[in-house]
Amino acid sequence: EGSDRSEEQVSGATVIAQALKTQDVEYMFGIIGIPVTEIAIAAQERGIRYIGMRNEQAACYAASAIGYLTGRPGVCLVVSGPGLIHALGGMANANMNCWPLIVIGGSSERNQETMGAFQEFPQVEACRLYSKFSARPSSIEAIPSVIEKAVRSSIYGRPGACYVDIPADFVNLQVNVNSVKYVECCMPPPVSMADTSAVCMAASVIRNAKQPLLIIGKGAAYAHAEESIRKLVEQCKLPFLPTPMGKGVVPDNHPNCVGAARSRALQFADVIVLFGARLNWILHFGLPPRYQPDVKFIQVDICAEELGNNVKPAVTLLGDINAVTKQLLEQFDKKLWQYPSESKWWKTLREKMKRNEAASKELASKKSLPMNYYTVFYHVQEQLPRDCFVVSEGANTMDIGRTVLQNYLPRHRLDAGTFGTMGVGLGFAIAAAVVAKDRNPEQRVICVEGDSAFGFSGMEVETICRYNLPIILLVVNNNGIYQGFDSDTWKEILKFQDATTVAPPMCLLPNSHYEQVMTAFGGKGYFVQTPEELQKSLRQTLEDVTNPSLINIMIEPQATRKAQDFQWLTRSNM
Ligand code: ADP
Ligand code: MG
Repeated sequence: EGSDRSEEQVSGATVIAQALKTQDVEYMFGIIGIPVTEIAIAAQERGIRYIGMRNEQAACYAASAIGYLTGRPGVCLVVSGPGLIHALGGMANANMNCWPLIVIGGSSERNQETMGAFQEFPQVEACRLYSKFSARPSSIEAIPSVIEKAVRSSIYGRPGACYVDIPADFVNLQVNVNSVKYVECCMPPPVSMADTSAVCMAASVIRNAKQPLLIIGKGAAYAHAEESIRKLVEQCKLPFLPTPMGKGVVPDNHPNCVGAARSRALQFADVIVLFGARLNWILHFGLPPRYQPDVKFIQVDICAEELGNNVKPAVTLLGDINAVTKQLLEQFDKKLWQYPSESKWWKTLREKMKRNEAASKELASKKSLPMNYYTVFYHVQEQLPRDCFVVSEGANTMDIGRTVLQNYLPRHRLDAGTFGTMGVGLGFAIAAAVVAKDRNPEQRVICVEGDSAFGFSGMEVETICRYNLPIILLVVNNNGIYQGFDSDTWKEILKFQDATTVAPPMCLLPNSHYEQVMTAFGGKGYFVQTPEELQKSLRQTLEDVTNPSLINIMIEPQATRKAQDFQWLTRSNM
């Protein structure tokens, strides 16, 4: 063939971009610089959306949220050394959350390796701890197969982060166009089903339960198991409890949702089915006193190594959640069964829910100023569009917000997650807004931040304004981390000594006007102190579908959550 003798050359940057495009990668986030600038340009030329951010950490959070929301990994593109190191936070967070992600890092030139090259760092080794797969292609020609493997590894089995290292000298190196063979787009992950006898056994354990509970985790959300799980809930009339990001797989307002009686449900259930939720700190390890010592766990997970962690499960169902739930449904179709609605268990749960809901409503109705968390979240909930994305982080802001703010759709809540990472909010919100722009432009993104959490990635407000993403940022401002002080107390503290000697570690500057970070870049900013101001500014921001906005909501600096049954585990009472 004459084409083999073609003189046409292609750069490493172009090969990377084309290989990503071939693997159906749609979104890239990052910060350009030596040596990756050309990669971003080549990606954009091939129709991959490139979003330039202000810190690699936030860029990496954004890319990882793409993986969770779309099931296809987003790419985080970073420069060598410090750029890659900043991205490690995002990689670790994605890997802990079991979310697919591809990080592409430029690295120093191969012929300067070990010589103290510009930003030289052992990047492939550094990423190994934060990823499922970490590699450097041996040549330009090897790039397509390494990228295919990274994309495939990120979504097959338990999803996670993958790293591809690109030496600086690859980026502009030209090779003959015919020497590069692009590997076909990898197939969607194979769907595995659980062993039939285990499914039978699980159904029988559920049928014999006196106090059953389904726990719906973010694995179920990722697996798109919403339809089958909802069917199981409704057909068998079982109570269910979503984990923080499992919220919305079955709507929070479903009559079988016992979220408002969480501690009670966990503590007294005798059979618990886990749909894609690990028995880690979020679920108090599955151990007493938060659970009955003889509770029977049925674990549904795609990762065999997860089964049996911290407890000895009664039944393990290894497989894809959606497929396994359908297998369970078959069992209940064959032999019809419903959990009795008038059981003592349902009565206990309903009573507890009523009491908890009344307690939060009472706090919410308090007219004193500054407002408390509950007052703020009840007003927000009243106006929240049903199909919006809710992004949330902060300590109390996230914990209390989760109990009041409802999710009606799967994969529409993004928060600090398994790793409890602060600083994820703006990156997640940007990813959700970019996806919404492409697929459902009517949809809004509400990002509920504590004032401390906002600070970690606050400069991404510029990114939001630059790309004109109509995100609504709420900063629930208590002047501090966990708690702060009012400005009078703050002045009192600083009266005789310098702040660097006496400022309490949890304090942030009182009355900070975070809304001006938004107005600095042309977005809308609001400073609110009363429920009326909050209602009004929310209405305005929701009506304004073109501008980003930030509402800085001043609350009682010492506000806390309502009393908990288990005080000693408040922080982990997610
Ligand atoms: P949560 O934080 O909501 O409790 P976790 O992140 O702890 O959820 O657990 C999610 C689990 O879901 C992980 O153990 C992961 O292996 C599993 N998982 C992810 N995708 C699937 C899938 N398609 N089928 C089955 N399990 C899955
Ligand atoms: Mg705070």
